[in-house]
Amino acid sequence: MSSTFKATLDFAKSLDQKDTLKHLRNQFHIPKDNNGKDWIYMCGNSLGLQPKTTKQYINQELNDWANLGVEGHFEAQNPWMPYHEFLTDAMAKIVGAKPIEVVVMNTLTTNLHLLMVSFYQPTKKKYKIVIESDAFPSDRYAVESQLNFHGFNSKDGVIEWKPREGEELLRMEDLETILDEQGDEIALLLIGGVNYYTGQYLDIKKIATLGHAKNCMVGIDLAHGVGNIKPDLHDSGVDFAAWCTYKYLNSGPGSLGGLFIHEKHAHNKDLKKFSGWWSHNKATRFNMRQELDIIPGAEGYQLSNPPILSMAAIKASLDMFNDVGMDALREKSEQLTGYFEFLINQIDTDRIKVITPTNPQERGCQLSVQVKNADKSLHKALTDNHIITDWREPDVIRCAPVPMYNTFQDVFNMVEKLKTLL
Ligand SMILES: *Cc1c(COP(=O)(O)O)cnc(C)c1O
Repeated sequence: MSSTFKATLDFAKSLDQKDTLKHLRNQFHIPKDNNGKDWIYMCGNSLGLQPKTTKQYINQELNDWANLGVEGHFEAQNPWMPYHEFLTDAMAKIVGAKPIEVVVMNTLTTNLHLLMVSFYQPTKKKYKIVIESDAFPSDRYAVESQLNFHGFNSKDGVIEWKPREGEELLRMEDLETILDEQGDEIALLLIGGVNYYTGQYLDIKKIATLGHAKNCMVGIDLAHGVGNIKPDLHDSGVDFAAWCTYKYLNSGPGSLGGLFIHEKHAHNKDLKKFSGWWSHNKATRFNMRQELDIIPGAEGYQLSNPPILSMAAIKASLDMFNDVGMDALREKSEQLTGYFEFLINQIDTDRIKVITPTNPQERGCQLSVQVKNADKSLHKALTDNHIITDWREPDVIRCAPVPMYNTFQDVFNMVEKLKTLL
């Protein structure tokens, strides 16, 4: 593909012209500078932009609440009682799951804990947890606190899957070695499906196979995967997964997360779990005096009646994803990120290195660009020019051209500016 790319503005414009998804950008609010010029927003991996329909979806619920009060639970246009069900099919499609395997609830780190209640059942001998050495801090803290909670020492209980000396990316052989050597002591693998720092998309199915061969549970954090890559969760065989919806799923700051529990666990009554009234059989929930009758599958993990205003924002986004489909998004994404990579490689300097894998099958849209001898002032200079990226110490700029709203001209103009700043 890259052999046909050209590093000119005209060429970038021609790619935009040919883009069959170009109409989507206009369905988002794009932040603008004082002169009304669009920012170059490459931070959809941190907070996705707002769809123009979001307001409408939230207003619908505000109006129904104003007009109906408590009756809205059943009488609202989208009744609040089953509201989460309106999200399930679209969400299941995005992650490649069956509806019984998926629910939208709580936030990501909370869900990781609730899932570990079920899937981290340590014994004296088999209690360790494998994470990536550069796992997202919240995941690390969650895992360490689970070890402490169960009476283990988190220093000794966390095993890091690390890149080799002088490398940035993880190798599957090294996970295999960890499992060969320490598998008998390992209870759980909790791995980021797409690493937040390097953008590396790991082979989830392979991780599940390796972990299960040593009787370990396998969980995947899909915060940087959902809406970005197509993880085929059901087929991968992983036991559980969790993600947030405010990154690539554009549902707004702090919005609810989603989780996946593989169908093979859906009816397992022996699985330990925490419960609340929303875990209970919907038909008898309001009898209020019943013994707990847990809903099978992911829905049974709900505790509370959920925040409808957040769910409305998620519905606005999922309806868009459902219309477009991940196949089309992924196709554009590979081309857009491929063009971005091509342009970066044209920069005539040895200060720059893309640490994200070059193989499109091993990455989503994000490229992590390492800049030798750079400090945060480079990121600030980009930001001052309304080019919104994400800085990670010591020297990496993470840039996520998102297929729903970024353009080929965005990546072209971004790289031009980067060139002059260097
Ligand atoms: C964004 C992100 C989080 C954030 O967790 P919240 O509970 O939503 O605040 C956690 N883990 C990973 C891997 C992330 O990318």
